[in-house]
This record gives sequence, structure tokens and C-alpha cells, in this order.
Amino acid sequence: MHLELQGTVQGIGFRPFVYRLARSMALSGWVRNSSRGAEIEIEGSAQALDKFKGRLYSEKPRAASITAEKVSFTHSPGYTEFIIASSNDKASKSAGILPDLAICRACLKDIFETGNRRYLYPFTNCTNCGPRFSIIERLPYDRHHTTMKAFTMCDECREEYENPLDRRFHAQPNACPRCGPQMELWDRKGKVLERRNDAVQAACEAIRSGKIVAVKGLGGFQLMVDARQGAAVSDLRRRKGREEKPLALMYPDMEAIRKDCDINSNELGLLSSAAAPIVLLRRKSFPGVGSSGLSDLIAPGNPYLGIMMPYTPLHHIITAQLGFPVVATSGNLSDEPICIDEHEAFHRLGKIADLFLVHNRPIFRQMDDSVVRPINDGAIILRSARGYAPTIISTDSPGMPVLAVGANQKNSLALGIGKQVLASQHIGDPGSRYSSEALANNVDSLLRAYDLTPKVIICDRHPDYIATQYAERQGRPVVKVQHHYAHVLSCMVDNKIETPVLGVTWDGTGLGDDSTIWGGEFLYIDKKSYKRVGHFRHFRLPGGEAAIREPGRAALGVLYAIYGDSLFSKEEITLVKAFKAPELKVLHRMLARGINSPISSSAGRLFDAAAALIGLGRFSGFEGQAAMRLEFAAEQADSDEVYGFDIIQESGIHVIDWEPMFIEMLDDIKKERAPSLTAAKFHNTMADIIVEAARLIGEKKVALTGGCFQNRYLTERAIRRLKSSGFTPYRHRTIPPNDGGIATGQIMAALRSAKEKQ
Ligand code: ZN
Ligand code: ZN
Ligand code: FE
Repeated sequence: MHLELQGTVQGIGFRPFVYRLARSMALSGWVRNSSRGAEIEIEGSAQALDKFKGRLYSEKPRAASITAEKVSFTHSPGYTEFIIASSNDKASKSAGILPDLAICRACLKDIFETGNRRYLYPFTNCTNCGPRFSIIERLPYDRHHTTMKAFTMCDECREEYENPLDRRFHAQPNACPRCGPQMELWDRKGKVLERRNDAVQAACEAIRSGKIVAVKGLGGFQLMVDARQGAAVSDLRRRKGREEKPLALMYPDMEAIRKDCDINSNELGLLSSAAAPIVLLRRKSFPGVGSSGLSDLIAPGNPYLGIMMPYTPLHHIITAQLGFPVVATSGNLSDEPICIDEHEAFHRLGKIADLFLVHNRPIFRQMDDSVVRPINDGAIILRSARGYAPTIISTDSPGMPVLAVGANQKNSLALGIGKQVLASQHIGDPGSRYSSEALANNVDSLLRAYDLTPKVIICDRHPDYIATQYAERQGRPVVKVQHHYAHVLSCMVDNKIETPVLGVTWDGTGLGDDSTIWGGEFLYIDKKSYKRVGHFRHFRLPGGEAAIREPGRAALGVLYAIYGDSLFSKEEITLVKAFKAPELKVLHRMLARGINSPISSSAGRLFDAAAALIGLGRFSGFEGQAAMRLEFAAEQADSDEVYGFDIIQESGIHVIDWEPMFIEMLDDIKKERAPSLTAAKFHNTMADIIVEAARLIGEKKVALTGGCFQNRYLTERAIRRLKSSGFTPYRHRTIPPNDGGIATGQIMAALRSAKEKQ
């Protein structure tokens, strides 16, 4: 029997498993990795082969998944034993590369066991754990295709590597202190201060004494400081140019996390998973410092903390040594991609870090820490990177090699390979020189890994996006996909649902088909294409992009649509009074004449406007900050109250008029009702709008997508209300609802139109 298997079957001990299984059943033949996955040729009686195949599926390693198989039978070649053969890399490459995996229990035991030859060795791994996507240069996944190729295994490591019964059998990054990568501690001038374990110890001492240490980790540099020392945290913020955005934390263990946050079983599962993402956890005491005495500069004004567990041997060694939580934020200046190379880090992070804890295992692919938000019984992935990427989704679309380059914010890439869609890791928010370089580099390395030449490149319609401009420069056919359509398709493929679907696609900004700014859309998706069947009533955003940083402007735009010029004489509206007279005059003129005040239906900006009106901040330190404050306020209230709204039919399109909602909200504000209650009523109304629009449009399947659905209150309430009204709601699961999911949606759009043309 000849078996060709596709899916995630490489780099997780699949071949040793097949080897042991075949041997235990006294069958002969071979197993090998191929570019498409794994191949097995096995000889025996029909009955035995049948049993073998059954056990292959039922007993396969936990991380393995088989998405396709091809079975054929040949004449018996007369094998006498079962072996693991060398890889066949001739076929086209579609094997799933596995994400980087957090260290397993067995390896953890090795590194903390005195006398073990890997005692305190930061590069310990086995077939069940360790680096994958971040070190793989190309397929198939063999050592000489990884950044470990420069290291020659010593006799002991080689023996483990070649012994099918060993946990490190064909563990490609296998290494030990004798033969593998090593740590060094550098000062700001690049001088080596310490080596090996002494380097790690000295870095820990520096953190303890309030210094900022740049640590070369798994998928890039992290900046570490003692999370309890306000001065150190404030230094870090100032030097990194990150004023208010929360900083991620790494705790030594679960017990330490429990000092600051209550964790339920869902959250515990996320924290201790092989992906080990940053999990947003509610603080036990807020406002307050928690019992580990965190600096209040970690996440100012935020009832949540972004916490992760140590995931590499190095992180375990550092946090065990320190015994207190550290800030572990990505090593970059704000808005730049994470830095991966020690010589580049030295240059880019030279003004931020006091010391550099580096090593000589090259990182091939940047890999930020993933971020998840627990919800009901699962999570919303806010940033898909280490541990999750590449995300592979199988589709029933015809295979076509395509590349999608995503949107602008939270940029990521996607590939169409055969019947699979592969979503890359988070790359960054383009804007700086490094970001557009990172985009090009990541495209190249991804295409090289899969030996893929894309027939077309898919991008957003927005001409100003760096990714769009990149696509146009490549000299290949380019297909442009509407932003919100891509959002809906990403949610559909994430849930594997068929058309027709009503896509509720709410975000901050995206270029609409009519050249206005969309962002509060109801798109009806049929077999062929999409139709905009509903949207929020338009309002102007004075200053365009400036309105993202200044929610007060969005609020003015909304109120101007309601009151017109009389708005500016309404003394009773506190927001109007908050602007200085000259500024207000300028904004008035912009709105009245429509100068640099694009027309928008953005739901994200409505959240901003509501936050500003309630007094939760006229300014945002980062996009979405005001909306987050609004959500946190809403969580404080336990209310089912709602505001009014209208849905008006305009030539077949349902226009959602928010005027009654904002008028009632102003009334609540005037009556000085609690901001938390007003925030909750706003959220409740937005959820009701979804249900009512879905009822009028008359489609049962409702996909919730776009950056607004990073909001847990909105998402949970919308799902609950839709279900109780007889609808079937879908939320994002493995693909982020924000623009990090756009590339995947773009691939689906291309596959749909290719199918259409067939
Ligand atoms: Zn392991
Ligand atoms: Zn060794
Ligand atoms: Fe978007």
C-alpha cells in the first residue's frame, strides 16, 4: 500500500510514530517526508494494512492533522524491514509548516535537572516542542533547510537524532551545549560582556537592577524590564516611543499570575497551550497594583493585563531566576516591525536597550507574540503570530497559486496553495521604512519556502496602502478586492460556511466601492459576489485620518450631521465646549464646506464618537483606545437598556440612522447618568441594530467581522441576541477579525472569481 498524506505531518514526530507503529505490527516498508506532506509504502496482508491505516489515524501524534490522503496499491517489492527514508522534495510544495511550539514538559525537566547534559541550556527542544516556522527556510522540513544548518550535531545529539525510539529522533533543531547555539551578553557598543550561562545570569541581574535588556528570543527581540519598577517601565516607554499602549507581561508561573488575575479554565488552557499567546486577563484589583506590585504604567487605565507564560527554555531560565513578572514587549520602536537580527538590533534598539542578550541561532522569520482575548468558551485572536502562524485552512476551491498582501494596519500575508489557504504571521503596521522592507522580505521568504510563483497578487483597493503599492510594483496581474468583502470572506472560510451569508463588517476604515469610507457595512454574499445591502448613515470625519487619533472629531462629525450649523452654538453639549474656540472654528468650516472631511459610514468611528461624548477621552493614544475605554466602561454596568434607532430603506439599501441613539445619549449625559450605563446602552443598541438589520434583510446566517468584533461585549451580546432571535451567528476563530484577517479573505475572493470563470 502506498499512502500520500497531506496536512500537518512534519516536524511533530510523525515519522517516528509511523516507524514504531509499523514495527510493532511487524510490517515492512518505509516512511518519508515529501514536499506535500508524508509518504508511506508498507507491505503486508490486506487485513494488516487495513488495521495499520486505522491505527495511523486513531493514534497519530496530537499536533498532527491529515487533511488529504491518496491510497494506491503496487506489487510487493519484498521489503524486509521498516525504515525512515530520506525526504523526497520533487513534488510541488504544500506540506503544512508547523508553528513554533512552546517547550514541552519533558524538555523543561531536562533544563532544570542538575547533572542533565542540557541543564540550563536555552536551545533545548524535541520533536514535540521548539522552533519551527521561525527557522524554516524552505520545505521539506529538514535540518539543512533550517537556520540550524550551521551547527553540526555532536555524537550524542546525532545518536538521539538517529534513534527512532528517542524523543529527539529527527528533531531538526536538536542541539546541546557542546554543539548548539550559545548566548552572549553585549553592551551598547557591541562588546561581549559575558558568554553562555553567565550571560543569562548577568542579564537577569541587570533586569533586577532596573535596566532595559533586549533579549533575542524565538521570533525576534523582546525588551525586558522589571514590571514592578516604575522608573524602569517609564524609561522603556519613553525610549520606545510608546506612551499609553499596554505592555505585555511574562510571569514565572501560574501561581504568580494568580496574584494579579483570577484565571478560569478557559484562560488557563490558553495560557498553557503550545501556542502560549499573550492572553488579556482581567485584573483582580482595578484600579490598583495587584499583589505582585506591578507598576501602574504597565497598562494605564486598563482593567486588563496582557500576560503570557515563558515559552522557550531561555524565557523559563530568566523568569525562574527572577521570580517576578517582567515586561516582555516586542523589540522595536512604535509602529516598526519586530527586530530579528542581533546586528540590526544593535543599530535599531541601541537607544532603547542598555544591554543585549543575544545568541547565534539565526531567526529566519520575524514572529511576534500572538495576542488573544478570551471569550465565552474560546478566544478571539487579535494578533496571529508565534504559535498560531502559519494558519492552514482547507477549502473546496480549485487550486491556484495566489499571493495576497493584506491591508495596511496589522498587515499579514496569505497564500493559496492547492486547496489550502495559508495565513502568515502578523508582520506589522506599515508606515516606516522597516515595515515596507519587512513586507517585501516576508513575501520573498514565504514564496521561497513553498517554491511558489503566484499567478496573481491580490491586494486592497486602497491606492495609498503600502501593500497595494507593493503589489502593483511586482509586474504581475493584480486583483483588487474591496476591504469589507475580504473581511466577510475571511470569517466565512474561518467557519467553513457556504453562501448565502449576511456579513456584518464593522471596522474603522476601508475604501468603499463608491469612494467613501466604509466601515459599518452589511454585505450580502451570494455564490458569485457581494452586494452592499445596508450601512450606517453617513457622517463626515473632519481631518480624515486625524479623526482616528481624535475621537472628539468623529463626535463632532456625527453631531454636525444631526444639528448642522446650530451645533456650534449648543452650549449644553460638553464636548463642544471642550474644544478651544479657534480650533472649533476651523472644524466648523471644514464640516460646513466638506474640506478634508471624508464621508464615512464607519462603525468604529461611531464607537469613538460615543466614547468622546461620554467623556472617556477626546484623544486616542493609539487606534481603538477610546473604543476600548467605552467597552471597559460598559462591562462595569449590568444593564439591558437600549437607545432608539431607525432603519430607513433607500433604493433597496437599509440605512441605519443613529440619530435617535445619539440624541438620547446626549440626554443621559445631560442628566449625568453613570458613564458605564450610557456605554452599556450604546453597546446594547449596536447589538440590536445587527439583529434588526438581519431581520429586515432576511438572511439567517450572520458573519460578524471587522475590527469592531475584537470588542468582547459587542461580540458576545450580538451572538446571544442573534441566537435568541433565530439567527445563526458566526464569529472569528483562527483568523483575526481585524485587518490581520484581510489577506485570507483576499485569497478567498480570488478563488471565488476563478471558480466563477470555470
Ligand atoms: Zn520537548
Ligand atoms: Zn550536541
Ligand atoms: Fe478592516
